[in-house]
Amino acid sequence: MTQKGPYSFYNSVENRKECCHIRKVEPLKRALTGYSIWITGIRTEHSPNRKDMKKSEFDRINNIIKIHPLLDWSNDDVWSYIKKHGIPYNILHDKGFISIGCQPCTRAVHQGEDFRAGRWWWEDASKKECGLHTVNH
Ligand code: SF4
Repeated sequence: MTQKGPYSFYNSVENRKECCHIRKVEPLKRALTGYSIWITGIRTEHSPNRKDMKKSEFDRINNIIKIHPLLDWSNDDVWSYIKKHGIPYNILHDKGFISIGCQPCTRAVHQGEDFRAGRWWWEDASKKECGLHTVNH
């Protein structure tokens, strides 16, 4: 990071994955240390890589059981639940930020665009994974 500069992720997918590893994957790995179960909010809609995932799995990289209770929920399911139960949410969602990540890598999504279009918008859609939920079993 200090060699390539703080915005190296714009230059290549390799640099972007390196940045995500430094700023997300490695810190999360440290945060998970000592825990036996990790409950996530990931859903199959988020990425083509998640279509065959199971609701529970063993993550060998982090040595932890992962549970994905919302895996088969649609976007409509999530919003219905939020509205029905008055659950607080990030107000950026009301401004077109359907999927929210780090500030320099997220933009609002325009009408008709895929809901992940605002994440790493300069990249090919099939490569949009940060590595937090890389399949490793
Ligand atoms: S989302 Fe962008 S700024 Fe955040 S860790 Fe990944 S590449 Fe770096």
